[in-house]
Amino acid sequence: MPALEDLYREIVLDHYRNPRNRGELPCPPAKRAKGFNPLCGDEVIVFVEVDEGGRISDVRIDGQGCSISQAAASMMSVSVKGKTLSEARELERAFKTMMVIEGGGSPSSPADLGDLAALQGVKKFPVRIKCATLCWNTLSEGLTTE
Ligand code: ZN
Repeated sequence: MPALEDLYREIVLDHYRNPRNRGELPCPPAKRAKGFNPLCGDEVIVFVEVDEGGRISDVRIDGQGCSISQAAASMMSVSVKGKTLSEARELERAFKTMMVIEGGGSPSSPADLGDLAALQGVKKFPVRIKCATLCWNTLSEGLTTE
């Protein structure tokens, strides 16, 4: 049995208890996307605003669900805010790679992911991986919605 401490790292619990960028943004100019994980009942709503320079100027998270889904969304919001779209996509790719491939296997090291690396313990609990990646899929959907 993998240790539960691997799942609930301190920084993950902190984001769950004190979610960052919680709330909504007016749409337009922001875009809204809603993601749902039926395996766990997690719901994540992402509001994202991109400026003329192609940079994510603001992001807000709404929704409800398990601690991992909500902490992951909070951590994602911090990591993509102020980033360009291509930087955000690179982070998404690196994060998903970390979640599915044992030992990394990508050019991005956990260090590149910053606090997001704290979620790598989740992959020891395969049913929870969707909880952690839901917010990224939802962000991606929001960014591609016209
Ligand atoms: Zn969940």
